[in-house]
Amino acid sequence: MRRFLRPDLAPKVISALARKQKRTNTNRAAGALKIDAAWNSARKTKPLKAVLAALKSMVGQRERCMYCGDSHGTDIDHFWPKAIYPQRMFCWPNLLLSCADCGRIKGTDFPLQNGEPLLVDPTAEDPWLFLDFDPATGNLVPRFDPATARWDEKGENTVQVLELDRREALAAGYQKTHRRLTDLVEAAVQDTSPSPAALKTALRNTPCAHSPLPPPLP
Ligand SMILES: [Zn+2]
Repeated sequence: MRRFLRPDLAPKVISALARKQKRTNTNRAAGALKIDAAWNSARKTKPLKAVLAALKSMVGQRERCMYCGDSHGTDIDHFWPKAIYPQRMFCWPNLLLSCADCGRIKGTDFPLQNGEPLLVDPTAEDPWLFLDFDPATGNLVPRFDPATARWDEKGENTVQVLELDRREALAAGYQKTHRRLTDLVEAAVQDTSPSPAALKTALRNTPCAHSPLPPPLP
């Protein structure tokens, strides 16, 4: 999981989303809201196609899922699940790109603490403040804070809800990338005439399909 920067949408897309949200809220107040039908019908419209394109632009050419970074991101996921929070169904900051697996696993599981999500939103915060990588297993694990001797609660919930410690293909991908990076750094350390520029290029060119590490060097 890595941080994604959310671009601004075109004003006409923002307005269209606002209109859809207003209609949703009105129907909800009238007890006439059919959430799945409303969403499925909206998905076929131009504004939602623009949203999908914007989300895909955030993740790069491989169009990886924002949660697991592994599988192909094909779906628009509602960070605050639309089944419980339809009042956020068309809110741009609530829309993320996910793979079918993450969408299914996450479902309506959405732990809160004092009204704040106990799940990492990779479009709003740096996942590495809450998560860590365990090279021994290839799993993402909650970050451990030695000062409090506790595992980060948001990290813990994120791992649990998205089952990040039970995804074999994901762990294998993370381990592979970790090995590649470790080899590169070890070779650079042993180099008698090291070239920082060459190392930077090599790190940049390492296929980080699974993005186990923070974003590429600037
Ligand atoms: Zn995923």
